[in-house]
Amino acid sequence: MLRLQKVRKSGLTFAPEAGTQRLRDVINKNVTEEEILTTCATAFSGGWSNVKLYFMLGLPTETDEDVLGIAELAYKIIRVWKETASNKKRGLSINLSTAYFVPKPFTPFQWVEQISPEEYLRRVHLLKDAIRSKSIDYRYHEADLSRLEAVLARGDRRLGAVLEQAVENGARLDGWDEYFDYDAWLRAFDACGVDPADYCRRYDVDEVLPWDMISVGVSRGFFRKEYEKACRGETTPDCRQGCNGCGANRLGREGKCDE
Ligand code: SF4
Repeated sequence: MLRLQKVRKSGLTFAPEAGTQRLRDVINKNVTEEEILTTCATAFSGGWSNVKLYFMLGLPTETDEDVLGIAELAYKIIRVWKETASNKKRGLSINLSTAYFVPKPFTPFQWVEQISPEEYLRRVHLLKDAIRSKSIDYRYHEADLSRLEAVLARGDRRLGAVLEQAVENGARLDGWDEYFDYDAWLRAFDACGVDPADYCRRYDVDEVLPWDMISVGVSRGFFRKEYEKACRGETTPDCRQGCNGCGANRLGREGKCDE
């Protein structure tokens, strides 16, 4: 940090992803609140005054307590700043942002549902109402884009026609908010007789998945085991400390894992 200070004092960025240790354990995020607060204390005493925090809303098993835990963590950081900041004149700035959780193929959460946009926005407002400090600037991702992301991430061949139709409807450069036209997509789903909600539901752990014919090395059984452990809140250690048997070492290609 002392060396960084000589070059540029940008903000500190953390991605705790979840507001409570219980939920961080569910997603196997190996960062503790104590580590975040200790790092913040070191940074504040070194003159830093800007912190960025990234979280997700809608993670599997998330409760209101987990959502409110995000605000609590931000308030704990404010308390640490008051106790340790070497320069309080500049004030503290916490940029807190939340994304809408998107279940992705080839992850232990490939089967879980994406919560509805209404429920996502309820959690956004629950958190927003819990943040009253002027030091915290809260931003959240728009629901529509993440909803579409979930559909495209876990969709099957029926989406080919939807993609074509969406382009015909004028969908372009959707990654840019100013160009994103959700209505063009909704009309495309409608024209093709595809219900986007079908791809946001909970998939059965035994059902055939659209991406099952692709081998990424890591076995489906391993993802399932990790999913079941996640539901129980059990963590899996970093496999550099010992192989967890994910199956990638059976790929038999260059760059393979040596176990
Ligand atoms: S060491 Fe290799 S095979 Fe074992 S869990 Fe890690 S990536 Fe998978």
